[in-house]
Amino acid sequence: MSAPAPTAAIAAARARRGPIVVLTGAGISAESGIPTFRGTEGYWRIGSRNYHPQELATFAAFTAIPAEVWGWYLYRRGICRAAEPNAAHRALATLEQAHADDFVLITQNVDGLHLRAGNSSERTWQIHGNLHWFRCTADCGAARQPVPDALPLAWERGRIPTGGEIDLLRCANCGAAGRPHVLWFDECYDENNYRADSALLLARQAALLLVVGTSGSTTLPLRIAQIAAERQVPTIVVDLEPGVFGELAGRSRFGAFLAGKASEQVPALVQRWLSAST
Ligand code: NAD
Ligand code: ZN
Repeated sequence: MSAPAPTAAIAAARARRGPIVVLTGAGISAESGIPTFRGTEGYWRIGSRNYHPQELATFAAFTAIPAEVWGWYLYRRGICRAAEPNAAHRALATLEQAHADDFVLITQNVDGLHLRAGNSSERTWQIHGNLHWFRCTADCGAARQPVPDALPLAWERGRIPTGGEIDLLRCANCGAAGRPHVLWFDECYDENNYRADSALLLARQAALLLVVGTSGSTTLPLRIAQIAAERQVPTIVVDLEPGVFGELAGRSRFGAFLAGKASEQVPALVQRWLSAST
């Protein structure tokens, strides 16, 4: 059953100045076949142990078992590269085209699917990084580098990279070990790698906040939604279940929660938004 249309939120947003801000999480990519961290597919076996992503996606794990952690990321890279953007990603690319400078997409996803759907790299702020890139562990100042094509894309689940493969992931500038360009659970947001300050500033300026497919288990996305709520920014949330963002939107005067699949709700919403703007 489809949820009621967010008429009041759209009308209120149209009356405000400021950018349209979209915040996405793993749920928008679930229908492209990329598992979220909550499902059982998120678990990972190394040797005789099962790791939860929250243990493996950490600086501590990378320090203790770097090759195993790289193996997990290389496997996930293969899954992401084989996946295709879905109708929700494409609708957000259409939304950017319609609004150009008045649009920013803040994504927690590291899969790169928004960029492949056509959102620009300038207007797509990957606040948790992108697993198709790596950076220098010695912080020598080198720019981040793409994971080289010489590494196989189809990475067998559980395979640990060889020493030669790990060498392909060294910093081209200083030769230090490379690390996935992703924010790990035991690390802090920063501006340089993840545009954290810019994202908070944007939350104050937004005319509309659209949140898609995120459970709110990380601090920056939650803070973005709280700032938007304090400033009465119209907020529309699309998710299978309300969660913390849906509840925030439900309490706000111009908030709306749309229950359902991103691939159905987001294109319909973008269509509504675009017809309201003409
Ligand atoms: P999460 O797994 O905590 O939550 C996913 C949310 O999406 C849930 O609220 C769920 O109800 C919803 N959802 C699932 N399928 C949906 C669908 N078809 N349509 C709409 N909503 C749907 O994800 P999160 O909040 O993004 O946090 C997970 C963390 O893990 C993030 O830090 C992220 O960087 C990382 N992660 C990224 C990817 C990716 O890049 N695709 C995948 C897994 C995890
Ligand atoms: Zn370096």
